[in-house]
Amino acid sequence: MIYLKLAELYEDLNSTTKRLEKIEILSKFLKHLPEKNQDVLYLLMGDIYPEYDERRIGISNQLAVQAISKSTGTEKSKVIKEWKKLGDIGKVAETLTKKKTQSTLASHILTTERIIEDFRKLPTLQGKGTISKKLGLITGMLTSASPIEALYIIRTLIGDLRIGVQESTIRKSLAKAFFPNKEKAEEKIQRAIDKTNDIAAVFVITKQKKLKNLENLKLEVGKPIKAMLAQKALSIKDGFKKLGKPCVLEYKYDGFRLLIHKNKNEIKLYTRSLENVTKQFPEVKDYILKYIKGNSFIMDSEAVGFDAKTKEYKPFQDISQRIRRKYAIEELQKKLPVEINIFDILFYNGKSLLNEPFKKRSKLLRKIITKKPYKLIPSKQLITESETKAQEFYEKALKDNQEGMMMKNMEAEYKPGRRVGHMLKIKPEERDLDLVITGAEYGKGKRSGWFSSFILSCKKEDKFLEIGKVGTGIKEKEDADGISFNTLTEKLKPLVIKEKGKSVKFKPKIIVSVTYQEIQKSPNYESGFALRFPRFIALRPDKPLSEVNSLKEIEKDFIGQKRNWQYG
Ligand code: AMP
Repeated sequence: MIYLKLAELYEDLNSTTKRLEKIEILSKFLKHLPEKNQDVLYLLMGDIYPEYDERRIGISNQLAVQAISKSTGTEKSKVIKEWKKLGDIGKVAETLTKKKTQSTLASHILTTERIIEDFRKLPTLQGKGTISKKLGLITGMLTSASPIEALYIIRTLIGDLRIGVQESTIRKSLAKAFFPNKEKAEEKIQRAIDKTNDIAAVFVITKQKKLKNLENLKLEVGKPIKAMLAQKALSIKDGFKKLGKPCVLEYKYDGFRLLIHKNKNEIKLYTRSLENVTKQFPEVKDYILKYIKGNSFIMDSEAVGFDAKTKEYKPFQDISQRIRRKYAIEELQKKLPVEINIFDILFYNGKSLLNEPFKKRSKLLRKIITKKPYKLIPSKQLITESETKAQEFYEKALKDNQEGMMMKNMEAEYKPGRRVGHMLKIKPEERDLDLVITGAEYGKGKRSGWFSSFILSCKKEDKFLEIGKVGTGIKEKEDADGISFNTLTEKLKPLVIKEKGKSVKFKPKIIVSVTYQEIQKSPNYESGFALRFPRFIALRPDKPLSEVNSLKEIEKDFIGQKRNWQYG
């Protein structure tokens, strides 16, 4: 397939902001896309591999500038000037390539296969001379590219495709392209995506036009799957009303989600954003091998930090550094030990348990785990129909420094990636949010050169809407978690997409937890809301963008503010 055809599709998708029109365009394209071009599905998501694969293109704006300069024979300073003018490096590549082709009439045929092959070479380049090898590869692509091809090559390289296609757009387009009963098919396609996290594999099966084949897709041990997510209960009473009696109560541990895969002696650990963190937690690997029976399994758990001396549990932000640490792991392991609290099992000895009732899964995991406090234990549980007992259990969880309590329906199945109404969470203060940084302002005086005020956004479908600014809670000198204005600035710099005066806009990537005193209505932000006294708590490297709080949830919190006094 020629790449121009794909670039033209991108243009078509770009020509409308309406979701339904995008779906119409995309479904027509997918209907005729041959199976052998399945990798195009990754490109549509701005990627080169399935979501769970850690190999990313990751080219910096600077390298893109250099490549455009070389391929179009334009001085670097001129490329940068053009970038400042247009505010979009992709557009710079398009404009300058147009100028060049007018004078040289370059003939070219770029195939999508070659583009994917070259894109995939980029993350494999390592060691000495990496930069110049990457530069050579990108320049090569751009030299054969037409103006709109150059535009989309650059946008893909810097991870900012801007065609407004999300997983949900693809899911709807696939259903429309291949099934007469779209709604039913959509649900099955979503389930298949949640199980495999591989949009191209799902495309291939969808093309067979058989719903049964989608249902038959198997879980694979070792391949990460998305965790099932919880909704909120407003009170214990509300929880029982939603779930029925009796129900299962568990501690809501204040740590981070860890999905555990075991296949014979091979252990893999994934966060909820499908990041493989096995190397960072060697001791956990040992616990699993020693204290859980079974040849193969997938389990769901929360890793919680505790003080090695006092054995007191610690909040998430105290151990978050373990997730990213790539060196001196043993040292950190001693300093910040974790306990694994296992609360679900999805697969056991060759069999998927997703459709089994929770009580059966829960019973099984208790049978195969040897309890080792401060290493690995099944989650603390109480099955009850009594609101008084539930209240006591909840208070005990808080006393034990945990975040609150989970309430779970005993009969429910496990739905990967879904926010389900059969697993509810209760926390004392609903006054914290996970938001993404989409902009910042450079500081003044002592803080000049650093970003010092960070614009936070919530999500609405596939958009991110601003809801406030935070600077409080971040220090000038690095805190125990290594966070400071300087380190945040360094993290955000590669994500800059626009700069004007002191204001900067970022690609949404860095997720932060913030607390606040109150949500207020506000015309000053796109979301229509503003946070009163927001305060930075922690980076959330474990959370994917899809888990940024949504406008709907914020509206609910806004309404619920007064009702939550009972846990305030
Ligand atoms: P939240 O992050 O506020 O949406 O709360 C849901 C999260 O609580 C899950 O994603 C888990 O990481 C965590 N959690 C802690 N304890 C449990 C438990 N016993 N069962 C399920 N999830 C838990």
